[in-house]
Amino acid sequence: MLEECIFCRIIAGKIPADVVYADDQVFAFKDINPAAPVHILLIPREHLATFNDFEPRHKELIGHIALVLKKIAADQGLAEKGYRVLVNCGPESGQVVYHLHYHLLGGRPLGALLP
Ligand code: 5GP
Ligand code: ZN
Repeated sequence: MLEECIFCRIIAGKIPADVVYADDQVFAFKDINPAAPVHILLIPREHLATFNDFEPRHKELIGHIALVLKKIAADQGLAEKGYRVLVNCGPESGQVVYHLHYHLLGGRPLGALLP
């Protein structure tokens, strides 16, 4: 874990979070400043700063992340209504926390993503 990383600290239980899912590879918790009725962050336990840090050795993890996101969406009652999965990568995306995270958003019409 990276001592100075807030998401590593959440995984380690050093910062409290509303955890919705955890296993040996990933960790999911409610966003502290939700942009929608459902706003969950899913992170790998391994500290990867951004999407750019994925390597071929992460293939299994990447697939696992997709399946867990699908499961959480279903558990939140979003499977039929719909939801959005979003990753910010780097400065121009607006990424603020540099521990790779997937946003799962839903529970209201989300509007068009592209301007
Ligand atoms: P980014 O802009 O990096 O893609 O998103 C970072 C997200 O992390 C934001 O939506 C922000 O509200 C959330 N966040 C930042 N610090 C904390 C925290 O300490 N706890 C939780 N649960 N969410 C956080
Ligand atoms: Zn981290």
